[in-house]
Amino acid sequence: MSSKCPKCDKTVYFAEKVSSLGKDWHKLCLKCDRCNKLLNAGGHAEHDGRPYCHKPCYAALFGPKGVNTGGVGSYIYEKEPSAVTQP
Ligand SMILES: [Zn+2]
Ligand SMILES: [Zn+2]
Repeated sequence: MSSKCPKCDKTVYFAEKVSSLGKDWHKLCLKCDRCNKLLNAGGHAEHDGRPYCHKPCYAALFGPKGVNTGGVGSYIYEKEPSAVTQP
């Protein structure tokens, strides 16, 4: 009983498997679809069945404050929204 990794489409064996988004992934394939950062199962965001890190990618791409103005690199979003609050 093995399933296929949604990322690379190869068989995922138990020893290398992580489950997230209701699918089984290779540990090394569960990466942010935008920045390729490795993600922890259950500890990441998701859009359209693809995994993303919460920050900066998901927030930048889909978050309410992440205004995607269209061009690649135009939505760089590095500061925490709360970090800009004046004391
Ligand atoms: Zn894989
Ligand atoms: Zn990311």
